[in-house]
Amino acid sequence: MTAEVPVAVYPPDEEPDPARVAGVDLGIIHPYAVAGPDGEGLLVSGRAIRAEHRMHLADTKARRRALARRAPRPGQKGSRRWRKYRRRARLVEGRHRRRVRQAQHEAARTVVSWAVEQRVGVLHVGDPRGVLKVPAGRRHNLRLRQWQIGRLLQVLTDKATLAGITVRLVDERGTSSTCPACHRRVPKPRGRTLSCPHCRFSGHRDLVAAASIATRVPGGGSTTPTAVVLPEVVEHRRAGRHLPGAGRSRRDPRRPPRAARGSVGPRRPAPPPGGESLAPTARIHNTHRTPGER
Ligand SMILES: [Zn+2]
Repeated sequence: MTAEVPVAVYPPDEEPDPARVAGVDLGIIHPYAVAGPDGEGLLVSGRAIRAEHRMHLADTKARRRALARRAPRPGQKGSRRWRKYRRRARLVEGRHRRRVRQAQHEAARTVVSWAVEQRVGVLHVGDPRGVLKVPAGRRHNLRLRQWQIGRLLQVLTDKATLAGITVRLVDERGTSSTCPACHRRVPKPRGRTLSCPHCRFSGHRDLVAAASIATRVPGGGSTTPTAVVLPEVVEHRRAGRHLPGAGRSRRDPRRPPRAARGSVGPRRPAPPPGGESLAPTARIHNTHRTPGER
């Protein structure tokens, strides 16, 4: 089905200016890193989304382990408890999907609002979908799958179009491994900072990539003579403030604390008051929350 939807109308002197271009770099830690035309930048952190994925996986695994022996054999009718478990699992899956989707939409909304504020008329987005075809091993494959680049691109494009901003996909190859000052190749940075061994340049890795992407044009793929403008004033935003993992400790969520380890047995521990009640996994599940907190 195709529908026509109205595009935002702005008062004169406030509409997006097609001459003002911003570059967008898509990433895992920063779903969107944006470099604007006047040395302004925006970083949207996606750490909470990543934490949500990890905690969900840990929860699911623990729940499955605890209930595997109650699974019905082929041809056997599942027990009432099994059906209850299945119902609970469906509920949790749905909630997880909604949480991630909400955070992704918030992230894209942040970018578009920022672009409107900056009167950016064109967004050049580096298209990283080439990396999806490269087999990267089981850990990195999972990371890439959870990244959901296709969704991030789509959500951003939809919101930008409604705001009257044009989105162009450009080739992003080499943008995160080329020095913006001397245009030489830089070894892939391990942390967030890119530093050039040839000319002593250093800057935020994702913003440098975004600034390089801003100078690229669709189709051609090669750089234009336009100078790279690196952001000096950078706004930091976090996607998914509603997520339970947001702002919590960095302890590995896959690892249950000492007290809970080895307690997954046939005995059903009493569910904590007000907590999630799916014993025996409830105890593991609740290790992500401090007691008494919702
Ligand atoms: Zn350099």
